[in-house]
Amino acid sequence: MIRRLARRAVLPLTAPIGSVRQVSSQQPHVVLTYDDGPQPGATERVLESLADSGCTATFFVLVNRARKHPALLREVQAAGHEIALHGVDHVRLTTLAPQQVRLRTADGKHRLEDLLGTEVHWFRPPYGAQKPSTYAAIRAAGMESVVWDVAAFDWEERPAAVLAERTLAEVHSGSVVLMHDGYAGPEDGVDDGPAPTFDRGELARLVCAGLAERGLTGVSLRDALAHGKTVKRAWFRA
Ligand SMILES: [Zn+2]
Repeated sequence: MIRRLARRAVLPLTAPIGSVRQVSSQQPHVVLTYDDGPQPGATERVLESLADSGCTATFFVLVNRARKHPALLREVQAAGHEIALHGVDHVRLTTLAPQQVRLRTADGKHRLEDLLGTEVHWFRPPYGAQKPSTYAAIRAAGMESVVWDVAAFDWEERPAAVLAERTLAEVHSGSVVLMHDGYAGPEDGVDDGPAPTFDRGELARLVCAGLAERGLTGVSLRDALAHGKTVKRAWFRA
């Protein structure tokens, strides 16, 4: 009896505290993820490259941007990509009061679902910043937190070829790759300096081509999970 009680007390606390960081699959899949869009001028270029390469991706969008550019959001959706939530704006959630995080997260999910007409399953915290209370808010809103194991560092001002090479050197089957089709700025509630000027469509093209050379295919998280399962681990950072 005591043992049963102890297990009940421990399991719910430890078992689910993980963020999706990789996938496990028999298929040679790499999950491509794009944050901070939609961004007119960049998102279209990324879509073009993904279509040419036969890749799909999961786009973690900002709701305020999605409401400003609904046609572009529909274009992403119509091209067969998955859309998920990155936030109402790009404010770092770990700086907000827990109650505010809960309201924003639930509100953002509902507003995005209204725009899409489909359910939203995944949430990526801006900057990957997460603490137990923000993680709990995401779960309470009915979403799973998705982080990454390979970053393209495409917030830096570098040639697309350099960023692609660095990304491809780290990537392996089951990786979740962090990339961006937008760049968050003052309109998103943050000031992270000037946006890089390299062509995000070119980076997408180079990454997809490099994956193909390695026998890998870039797919959305949804498409990867049709043949595999998520690999989670605890992820907390300020
Ligand atoms: Zn972001």
